[in-house]
Amino acid sequence: MASRPVVSARTMSMTVQPAHDGPWKATMIVVMSPQATREQTEVADALLRKDGLTPVVGQVAGATVLVTEGSGTLDLASAATSSAGVERVVVVPGAQRLTSRLFRPENTRVTVGGPEGPVIGGDEFVVIAGPCAVETPLQMTAVVDTVADAGAAMLRGGAFKPRTSPYSFQGLGVAGLALLAEQRGRTGLPVVTEVVTPDDVERVAEESDMLQIGTRNMQNFALLREAGASGRPVLLKRGMAATIEEWLLAAEYLMHMGNEDVVLCERGIRSYERSTRFTLDLSAVAEAKRLTHLPVIVDPSHSTGQPHLVSPMSLAAAACGADGLLIDVHTDAQAALCDGAQALDGGEFTELMDRLKPVVEAVGRTLAQPRSRHLTQV
Ligand code: PEP
Ligand code: MN
Repeated sequence: MASRPVVSARTMSMTVQPAHDGPWKATMIVVMSPQATREQTEVADALLRKDGLTPVVGQVAGATVLVTEGSGTLDLASAATSSAGVERVVVVPGAQRLTSRLFRPENTRVTVGGPEGPVIGGDEFVVIAGPCAVETPLQMTAVVDTVADAGAAMLRGGAFKPRTSPYSFQGLGVAGLALLAEQRGRTGLPVVTEVVTPDDVERVAEESDMLQIGTRNMQNFALLREAGASGRPVLLKRGMAATIEEWLLAAEYLMHMGNEDVVLCERGIRSYERSTRFTLDLSAVAEAKRLTHLPVIVDPSHSTGQPHLVSPMSLAAAACGADGLLIDVHTDAQAALCDGAQALDGGEFTELMDRLKPVVEAVGRTLAQPRSRHLTQV
């Protein structure tokens, strides 16, 4: 079949000017057309290998992609462009591939919990709220009623907790997943929950709408691969000591396993500052939005560790282009088994939702409304 022209003028102009006089080098992604035959993919693969590249073959958005590592020339990009069955060739500088804005210029929109669910990365600003940890049925009902009434579009809650100390509450595990599923059934709101080991991915994927990978696991590559293959959207928190590039490369692991529904979450990085739990890096939000098409949300709770900072940082996150928030809320924070000190109470969360609305609208977006509400008495 006829191949479409490829290395776009925009891509060329962004990548073909060497910063020095040496040989021009960059790697590339060859995107096969959805109708390409296996033989055509093999021919494109052989073409790259002839030039010393060893492409990794994957599936993205129903198309086969050949993702290269190493260095390739512009001549090779042109040759690959005219190979049969090739839809386009993207030349990518730096380490990113599938997460790069050069690979996909438009924003990725991640729909959570079925076609009617909230869309992260689109025109709406999505607020996810709930307790740090799932504790009891009564605690869950109280918190979930509060955040649902205030207009949260999604629920959070940890069943498997990665705790710094082995003596701290480790979460209810599988029993916690059931409590989360109960709240989802009661409210119709999708649920995100953390998974900490590759072995649990299948189970957590079955019982929730979105998998969270925590800061302490951002470079747990076996977990990333498993979550990438799970078929569920993934919320990838930034490692507390990770650079933006390392964070985006962790997202590459998810995408190269065929998962396009990846949402990044800035949750604060370690610095010398001790007044806050971590240092919330909002510049990373704007920079990640520039470098990648993936949505980026902010966790003002784990980053600041203090309720009085959650509201101002939430407003700032909305203003700087974040696609949503992940917020800890508890109706009895004193008794919380995990991170009570940073949780908002119901009144504080409701007030924050009211204050967020005009800020979100000032940057041309709307606050996502809960899609379905079937609150029933339990
Ligand atoms: C959490 O959101 O419950 C959590 C443990 O966050 P982090 O991985 O950012 O510490
Ligand atoms: Mn926590």
